Amino acid sequence: MVTHIEHRQIVILGAGFGGIGLAIKLREAGFEDLVVLERAGDLGGTWQANTYPGCACDVPSQLYSYSFAPNPEWSRTYGRQSEILDYIRAVATRHGVLGDIRLDTEMLDARWDESESRWRIETSRGVLTADYFLSAAGVFAEAKYPDLPGMETFEGTSFHSLHWNHDHDLTGERVAVIGTGASAVQFVPEIQPAVSALTLFQRSAPWIVPRMDRSTHAVERLLLRRIPLTQKLVRGAWYSLIEGFGLVGFVDNRFRHPYELLGRIQLRRQVRDPRLRAKLTPDYMIGCKRAIFSDAYLPALDQDNVEVVTDGIAEVRPRSILTRRGVEIGVDTIIFGTGFTPLPGIFDRITGRDGLSIGELQRKQPQAYLGAAIAGFPNFFSTLGPFGAAGNQSAVFMIESQIAYIVDALTTMRTRGARRVEVRAGAQEDFVEEMRRRSADTVWLTGGCESYYTSDGQNAGLYPNWSFEYRRRTRRFDSDKYEVGA
Ligand SMILES: Cc1cc2nc3c(=O)[nH]c(=O)nc-3n(C[C@H](O)[C@H](O)[C@H](O)COP(=O)(O)OP(=O)(O)OC[C@H]3O[C@@H](n4cnc5c(N)ncnc54)[C@H](O)[C@@H]3O)c2cc1C
Repeated sequence: MVTHIEHRQIVILGAGFGGIGLAIKLREAGFEDLVVLERAGDLGGTWQANTYPGCACDVPSQLYSYSFAPNPEWSRTYGRQSEILDYIRAVATRHGVLGDIRLDTEMLDARWDESESRWRIETSRGVLTADYFLSAAGVFAEAKYPDLPGMETFEGTSFHSLHWNHDHDLTGERVAVIGTGASAVQFVPEIQPAVSALTLFQRSAPWIVPRMDRSTHAVERLLLRRIPLTQKLVRGAWYSLIEGFGLVGFVDNRFRHPYELLGRIQLRRQVRDPRLRAKLTPDYMIGCKRAIFSDAYLPALDQDNVEVVTDGIAEVRPRSILTRRGVEIGVDTIIFGTGFTPLPGIFDRITGRDGLSIGELQRKQPQAYLGAAIAGFPNFFSTLGPFGAAGNQSAVFMIESQIAYIVDALTTMRTRGARRVEVRAGAQEDFVEEMRRRSADTVWLTGGCESYYTSDGQNAGLYPNWSFEYRRRTRRFDSDKYEVGA
């Protein structure tokens, strides 16, 4: 029996900002034979998956949105999760790509078939082949859990911020929050008033700087709607303000002082207790890991029902947590705010020409060209690949740069009548070497912290320079760096 295998010119993985943006821009360029695979039951990626209380973006929405789909209607400076999800859905609908998305379809395995010169992609709903395989699978997809002795004996409720248990009522409970990353900073102020006791287990204090969030005014929205230029100006202003932080990141870390002063002033204003202030003072340079914007986190920690524990966890017991100093703290619910695995398992299931998976390659060291292509992976491109993410700048800005690059690559191929494209190993090596050289003096490596920005003392995959420089480099597909063949 011959089983029918569906063939598509382009298969895109993931229906977040990356996958949807790719589908829209590829369609605009005349590529219509495409499909987007999405394992979840809805589109939106990050903004569909994370539903914890207080979930919102950290980059102002006027900037954290597609440049080709400005939205004058944001209700706040920083859109909340549901508003961002609505926005992504509205953009996908308006640009006619909803029908391209296959929900509840997980990609299980993808490998390059050299003899056929195409990708073979196994999904939970059958097999596809594709001329081009484009990954927009995201990097913050899998919950990371710390290794806590005795966790399996815990008899209370526990969950990760990525899998928030909305059926579980925290009112009046003794809650332990583990981790102080960006998600914890957002949900702690939301749950603190309801719980009877909140113990925050902190390994290292994050730098918290003023968020200045507010509702947008009707007049403001009218102005943005009526005079599109104002939207461009607002977007440009936020972009420049955030980009300015690059001075600390990769120019000279002495530029950190005014930012750190801002953080210290906020800490002094919002936390009365000097002992608590000492615990909440970071011991590394700002920018070493992602600085967090919040006006509500520090005041929440200064409440009587909150304790910040910095001693570390010795053991989890059925109804309590024992600290390394031997203090036993009663706990009904444990919430993990411990972030995401650095390299989601999905990358172990994408295999290139030599039988090696992206996961195997990247675990040795981050390797890619412009964060968008990988040697050994013909007809494959990705968004937010190694050295294609920014420190504090909007991920959507980087994603749009990659989309433009990928669309130009496929258009170039079409114009030349070529069928196969693969970045040259030498071009990739030079690029990775350049990235390493430029990373050496960045605050990510010299700022005295450990974070997901680094791995084994090396830059884990951020672009170590201005995002506008990255935009310039990805504006056009540089085919001389690739083997392009029939
Ligand atoms: C809580 C939170 C807040 C954030 N806030 C900001 C912010 O303020 N500013 C900023 O710049 N960035 C922020 N980020 C980073 C954010 O992830 C990116 O901005 C952006 O949403 C990434 O989009 P993406 O399309 O690349 O990936 P995602 O949004 O992660 O989408 C990837 C999609 O691929 C799907 N997928 C993965 N594997 C498979 C498979 N095997 N089969 C089928 N489908 C698969 C996933 O289900 C998902 O829908 C935040 C992240 C989190 C988690």
